[in-house]
Amino acid sequence: MAIKFYNYLTRQKEPFNPIKKGRVGLYTCGPTVYDRVHLGNLRTFIFEDVLKKTLQLNGYRVKHVMNITDIDDKIIKKMKQEKKTLKQITLPYLKLFLQDIKKLNIERAAYFPKATENIKEMIKLIKVLLKKGMAYKGKDNSIYFDISKFQTYGALSELTKQNIRHGARIENDEYSKKNAGDFVLWKAFNSIQDKSLTAWNAAFGKGRPGWHIECSAMSMKYLGKTFDIHAGAVDLLFPHHENEIAQSEAATGQKFVNYWLEAEHLLVENQKMSKSLGNFYTLRDIEKRNINPLAFRYLALNSHYRSKLNFTWNAVQKAEESLKNLRSLSFRKIIKREPRNAKKEKEYETKFIEALNNDLNTPRSLTTTWELARDAETPQTSKDKLIEKFDKVLKLGLKTDFRIPAEITKMAKNREKLRRENNYEKADQLRQKADNLGWIMEDTPSGPAIRKKL
Ligand SMILES: [Zn+2]
Repeated sequence: MAIKFYNYLTRQKEPFNPIKKGRVGLYTCGPTVYDRVHLGNLRTFIFEDVLKKTLQLNGYRVKHVMNITDIDDKIIKKMKQEKKTLKQITLPYLKLFLQDIKKLNIERAAYFPKATENIKEMIKLIKVLLKKGMAYKGKDNSIYFDISKFQTYGALSELTKQNIRHGARIENDEYSKKNAGDFVLWKAFNSIQDKSLTAWNAAFGKGRPGWHIECSAMSMKYLGKTFDIHAGAVDLLFPHHENEIAQSEAATGQKFVNYWLEAEHLLVENQKMSKSLGNFYTLRDIEKRNINPLAFRYLALNSHYRSKLNFTWNAVQKAEESLKNLRSLSFRKIIKREPRNAKKEKEYETKFIEALNNDLNTPRSLTTTWELARDAETPQTSKDKLIEKFDKVLKLGLKTDFRIPAEITKMAKNREKLRRENNYEKADQLRQKADNLGWIMEDTPSGPAIRKKL
């Protein structure tokens, strides 16, 4: 089945064709470990997880690389404020990041390269750019990329060089450069400002790498000069992803990435999330309110990744209710087993995969899962198989099997016997008793069934 993705490079939905048959190289921009990741970051990571799992569902082997930014201005600022070493700042936040993604059933990348462990690769890349005349040393001894030398600069974000020069969305570097749009590759070590802080030696001067160069160096190190998919969030389109393309393609003379996929923003109560508005939420805020983290995953899946996701406490609570109901319906056990229905299975499976393969339409794939869970015609044996398969992508814990206590199964069988004897009153007493114990007994076209109250 063909997969289609919306490619930001061409601004249209395109069939996905990998470079190597059956394999996909995937790079996703990772966290800067100076604070906890927020819900907007996590929304993007959930989208990337579904992207990876959809490719796997289609039989691809995915090599996923996600960088860890463990050197940048914000980290250095925190080191100064808290009088701590780089690792004392970054390692605890890296640990928290890994805990957060685990709680959301986001699979780890195959590689999590840290910026500080790949400085050599970045220096090498900067050397090439200097040699090719694409980069220059500024008055402050920092190295800058000269965007006027890169013909197609701005293509991804659809900005012209004119716009970029006059635009407001330029990083406010305190460093000297030729053009407003030029960006820093290497920040020169300033012995007054950077006293005793982290710096590395390079032929072009002591300093530390800029943020953009790390993604170019680390993605190409693991995935090659040209690879299949680069994913992130729309707020990274410019300048970050634009700069990654410029640096990489200027250095290699080859196309950097074939498909650029970007997740939309997460809003809180229809407002931009920010620390000053007091609506800057992390997964811990969800847990503090005793909400299952997977409710947030459900909420994210229930909106398309290219739509803005409006986070409200009401919405996430509703998502938790929906998730409980879906799980409860998915766990239904039939007392008498019946044969699977291959035709129905095929129908549902096709519908589910088609939705995902159409630019990751997760809301539609969820709808299909609900239809299946509620479907009285499809035998439970088939449902079990399908739910298990769907949950490999959804990862909503739909397949955590409950063991039905022998006592409950016995009660269900007794209830059936009583009903056959037209002893409805006693049968109903048993149903009520099971209900009090947390088990729902119901009658389906496949016969009497038990499911857990969640
Ligand atoms: Zn990046």
